[in-house]
Formats: sequence, C-alpha cells, structure tokens
Amino acid sequence: MQACVLHAVGDLRCETAADPKPHADEVLVRVGACGVCGSDIPRVFKTGTYKFPLIPGHEFSGTVVAVGDDVDAKLVGTRAAIFPLIPCGKCSMCAQKKYAQCANYDYLGSRSNGAFAEYVCAPEWNVLPIPDHLSLEEAAMTEPAAVALHALRQGAIQGSEEVCIVGAGPIGLLVAMWATALNAGIVMLADIDGRKLDFANKLLPDAILLDARERAIGEEVRSITGAGADLVVDATGSAPGVAQCLHATRPFGRVVLLGNPEGDMTLPKDAYWAILRKELRLAGSWNSSYDPARRDDWRIVIEFMANSKLNVKPLITHRVGLPDLFSAMEKMRDRAEFSNKILFVND
Ligand SMILES: [Zn+2]
Ligand SMILES: [Zn+2]
Repeated sequence: MQACVLHAVGDLRCETAADPKPHADEVLVRVGACGVCGSDIPRVFKTGTYKFPLIPGHEFSGTVVAVGDDVDAKLVGTRAAIFPLIPCGKCSMCAQKKYAQCANYDYLGSRSNGAFAEYVCAPEWNVLPIPDHLSLEEAAMTEPAAVALHALRQGAIQGSEEVCIVGAGPIGLLVAMWATALNAGIVMLADIDGRKLDFANKLLPDAILLDARERAIGEEVRSITGAGADLVVDATGSAPGVAQCLHATRPFGRVVLLGNPEGDMTLPKDAYWAILRKELRLAGSWNSSYDPARRDDWRIVIEFMANSKLNVKPLITHRVGLPDLFSAMEKMRDRAEFSNKILFVND
C-alpha cells in the first residue's frame, strides 16, 4: 500500500509500505479520511513518534474490508470512525473505564501505525459504526469533535450559561460550536489572529468574537456579562491565554485547561490572585471518553452530527492526497496559509 512513513524527525516520506494484516481481535480498515491534528506538527517536525519508522495519523474514519479470526465477518463493509487509543485493559484506570488515563496504552498514529495510509489495522473494540448519511470526511472529525466536547463536559456546562473560549484554532472553534449546540446563553470566542476570527465569524454568526489584540479579553467579557463568564476554556496552551481565561471568569466560575502547553506556563501574580479571590474551579481536559456501553463523548458526537446539530464540514479547509500531505504539513507548521482542518482523503 501507499503510506506516509515517518523515518526520523522531519523525514516523512510518501512511499510503498507493507500491507497491514489484522490480528485475531482486529479489523483491517480502508482509510476514508484522516485529519492532520495540531499535535502532528510537533510529532513530525520536533519530537518524533515513539519509534521509527512509523505511520502517523490518528483522526480517522474508514471502511472495514477484512477481519481477524475472532471478529464477526459481518463487520466487513461497516463504515466507521475509529478511536485511536488502545487501552491496556489491566491498570486501575482501565478498570474504571478511564481509558485516556491508562498507564500503558497503545495509540494508532504515535505508538503504532496510524492512518496516513491507504489501510490501517485497529482492534474491533475501537470501531464505532456511523449512520449511512454521514460521510467518511465528517466521521474523520469525530476525534477532534470529541476532544472539544470533553472539555465542556469537564467544565460541567449547563444550558443558558455564558461561555468564553480563548483560542480560535480548530479545537477552540469546535468548542465554540459545541457550546452553541448545547444551548449556551452567550458564546464568546477570542483570538489574536484576525484570519481565525474572520473564519469563525462565517461559521458561528451568533457567537461574539473578541479580538484580543484590541482589548484585554477579561475586560471585554465583563463588559458583555457583568461579572465574567460562567465557564471559560483555554484552547491556546499559552501562558498569556490562560491568564486571560482567569480574568474572564466570574467569581465561583469554572476554567477548563484544554490547549497543549507550548512551553513552561508561568502566570502573572494578578492572574493567580484571580483564582484565589474568585474561588475559581480549574479542570484539566485530556482526550475524550470512549465506552461502547455508555453515551460517551464519541457516541454523542456521532449523534449530533447525524441529526445536524453539529456541522463539521465547513471546518475542512484543505483536502490532500498522500503525496501532498508532507508539504501541507510544512505549510501548517510555517503558517504559510490559513488553514483550519487539513484532511488526507483516500480517494
Ligand atoms: Zn489529535
Ligand atoms: Zn490501562
């Protein structure tokens, strides 16, 4: 098959790779689409994957084309989103079904081969079938949409609340779309990048966009809400972004930290005081919940996409084949042109 294989940091080659063969509990998936995640940029250009050579790509969908010995052959032909995390099943977190906190997990696209390829293997447990009317491109957005939803659930969002999201990148924008879909009273979305705000404006006509270059976010949010927002989500992973979140939250409000840190996170003293004086509640958010027996983040995403309460299609700004994937990622790294979600599409 053709695949984009990472041989060393910065060395991603589109080449012929061995056809994957499913183990007994696995299925073979023909990849439909796979998104480039923000985390793929440092993974490919800075830190590398856990081993080389390895095929990255973890935000994907596809069609089951073959099954291992222990899997029901009826699954062949199933169109699905695939949960990329493979839990160990033995640790205390797995016993509580907190798979994102598994002590010894495997991960498609960082520890094992992922979906920047024509085919990929995944355990049957990780396969989440999708309704016929959902496209594989939409299904490839399930992972980032679940990550965004998870942050709001970590913040215990209630309908009619005032919600502010700092950072209008692909995930921040999805958080704002979810806040809207979950009937927040006011949705505010802040950024320092005018192109991101323009893009957000088209997708979320009812959200209030805050240009953080013009005015401090905290001031702006208080001028809209009075005391500050009930729930504020950091989707920047930057220390100034987090400080702004703390200033934008009302007394006794909640702050969710979602963005991956860009470096050491040092807070100015007045931002730290805000946590104390306003008795803020801080929550971290990591990955998403996945549990076939429950209405987990993944099933809620599929449900909302299927009944058109969450429309992720306009988030896709670029579609590329495997030969063009590396240069698309270079452009994303260099911010050479505006992008939201770049998808590898396996036509
Ligand atoms: Zn991701
Ligand atoms: Zn585990």
